[in-house]
Amino acid sequence: MPRINNSTLPRRAIPSVPVLSLGAFGSRRAGLPALDDAPAVQLVTSGRIAIGMALRALGVGPGDTVLVPAYHSPSMIPPVHWCGAEVVFYRVHPDTTVDLDDVRRKMAPGVRAVMATHFFGFPQDLRALRALCDAHHAGLVEDCAHCFFGEHEGVAVGASGDYAIGSSMKFFPIFEGGCLVSHRHRLPDRLAGAGAGFEAKAALGALEASFGQGRLPALRLAAALPLHLKTVLWSRIKARAAGATVATAAPALAPSSSDSSFSFDSHWVDRRSSWFSRRVLRGADRARIVERRRRHYLELERALEGAPGWQPLFAALPQGACPWVFPLLAERPAALHERLRAAGVPMVRFGASLWPGVDAATCANSVALGRRLFGLPVHQELSPSERTWLAASVRAALAASMAAPA
Ligand SMILES: *Cc1c(COP(=O)(O)O)cnc(C)c1O
Repeated sequence: MPRINNSTLPRRAIPSVPVLSLGAFGSRRAGLPALDDAPAVQLVTSGRIAIGMALRALGVGPGDTVLVPAYHSPSMIPPVHWCGAEVVFYRVHPDTTVDLDDVRRKMAPGVRAVMATHFFGFPQDLRALRALCDAHHAGLVEDCAHCFFGEHEGVAVGASGDYAIGSSMKFFPIFEGGCLVSHRHRLPDRLAGAGAGFEAKAALGALEASFGQGRLPALRLAAALPLHLKTVLWSRIKARAAGATVATAAPALAPSSSDSSFSFDSHWVDRRSSWFSRRVLRGADRARIVERRRRHYLELERALEGAPGWQPLFAALPQGACPWVFPLLAERPAALHERLRAAGVPMVRFGASLWPGVDAATCANSVALGRRLFGLPVHQELSPSERTWLAASVRAALAASMAAPA
C-alpha cells in the first residue's frame, strides 16, 4: 500500500474543528450577513434543540407531518418526534438543492412544516419553496447548521424561513452552542441557565480542545477569565485530578449534542447557551472566519486540481457563501476513505448514515451523496503548514484510491 512519508505528518493531528486561538477575537462585522443578525435570536446549546423549539413555535404536534430532506443529518429527526409529529422525506437534486416537484407531491393537509438545509455553507434559493409553503399554510424551518454566514441574491441566510436554526459549534471555537432566530416572528425571552457545572464544562471543553492542539498559552487565557468562572473551573479541575472525571461525576452536565451522537435530550430545550460560548460568539473576529474559510476552500480546490478520482460538489464558490467544509465527490469512496483515515486526515462523511428506511427508492441522489461525499476541513484555525499537509495528503490518498484494486 502506498504510504505518505512520515516526515510530512504534523506532530499532532490537524484540528478537525476550529479551536480557540488568540487570533480568534476581533470585530463583529463579518462581510457577510450572519444568522444571529436576525431581529429575534435565542442562543441555545445545539442546532437540534433549536429545531425542536422552532417546530414547537410553529405549533407542530401529534398528527402533523414535517417534510425533511432525504439528505440530512440524523440529528434533524428526533426533534420532530419530540413534537409528536411524523417525518416524511422529500428528494433533493444531485447538487443537494430541494426537489420542488417532490415537495409539491408530498404537500398533504397534515404537513405543518418543511425543513430546508443550506448544505455545506452554500446558500440555496428558497423563494419557490417559501411560496409553496405559504400556499399550503406550512411553516418553513431554514436549517443553517452549515451556513452561519451567507446570502443568496441579497437574501440573508435565515431570512426566508419562519424560523432558522444554526449550529454555532460548527463555526466558532466553542464546546456547545446553537441558535434559533427569526426575521418574521418574535421569540419569547424565557431561556434559563443550565447551572454552574454546565458553565464550567462548556468553558473547559473549549479550552481543552485548544490546549490539546497547542493553540493557547494557558496563562494568558486564564488571566482573561472572570473570577467566578475561574473558581468553578478550578474546583472541577481539582475534582478531575482527584480521579473523578467531570463526565462520571455528573453525566448530564453537558448536552450529548456536543459529542458525535444524533440524540435529542429535551432537558436542553429553553436552556441558554453557556456564558463562555456566548462570550466567544460576541467577541469572535467574524471577518476573519468568513475570509479564511473562503480562502482555505479556494486554496484546497486549486491544490487538488488535476488529481484523479474526484470532482467538487459545487462548480464554484459563490460570493455569498462561507463554507463549512470542502465537499468533494469521490470516484472510489471506500478506497479513499481508507487512505484518508490511515493518513489521519479529518473528514466529514455527511449523509453516510441516513435515518433508517431512507434508501434509493426514497431518494437515489441522497444515497449517492452519502456514499460519495467527503467534507474536508477549511476552518479558520488551519495554519499554512497544516493546509499544505492536508492538500498533499488528500492528493496522495486520491492517487492511491485510484491505484487500488477494485
Ligand atoms: C449538525 C447539524 C444539525 C444539528 O446541529 P447540532 O448543533 O449538532 O445539534 C442540524 N442540521 C444539519 C444539516 C447538521 O449538519
